[in-house]
Amino acid sequence: MFKTFAVGPWTVRCDAAATRAVYAAISKRSPEECGCSGCRNWLAVAHRVHSPEFLALCGRLGIAPKKEAEVYECGPADSGHCFGAWWHFVGSVEAGPRWNGQICKESVLMPYGAVSLLIHEDDGLVPDTFGDQKTVQLEIFAELPWVLEEESDA
Ligand SMILES: [Zn+2]
Repeated sequence: MFKTFAVGPWTVRCDAAATRAVYAAISKRSPEECGCSGCRNWLAVAHRVHSPEFLALCGRLGIAPKKEAEVYECGPADSGHCFGAWWHFVGSVEAGPRWNGQICKESVLMPYGAVSLLIHEDDGLVPDTFGDQKTVQLEIFAELPWVLEEESDA
């Protein structure tokens, strides 16, 4: 069942039950499959992203926060390293600022707990499990500590 609600400046229409069913059928976690230093560091520090606020949003959308579609690192930042990650949910964006195609600080972002959010329909790497359902991309950016002994290969 679709519900329409606001997330920051965006109004989204979301079928959380359909999204939950998709995540239940997804077994892989992209940063575990990738194995690059950025992904391994993400796995070590991802709990910092999982604030009660962010987990509540994921719950509302039906997203499993530990089943990221994609994770990437974009180098050193003011505090730690800059990371991006995204997930999808079944639905559409009804209103709100459009993504300008830029990543990180040049983009339309909304501070949300420990992360910044971006919601758009220019989906990438949508898991096949979503089938023909229309999806929205929930994207986050966060500055996270680098905890690996080795240097980043970003
Ligand atoms: Zn990686």
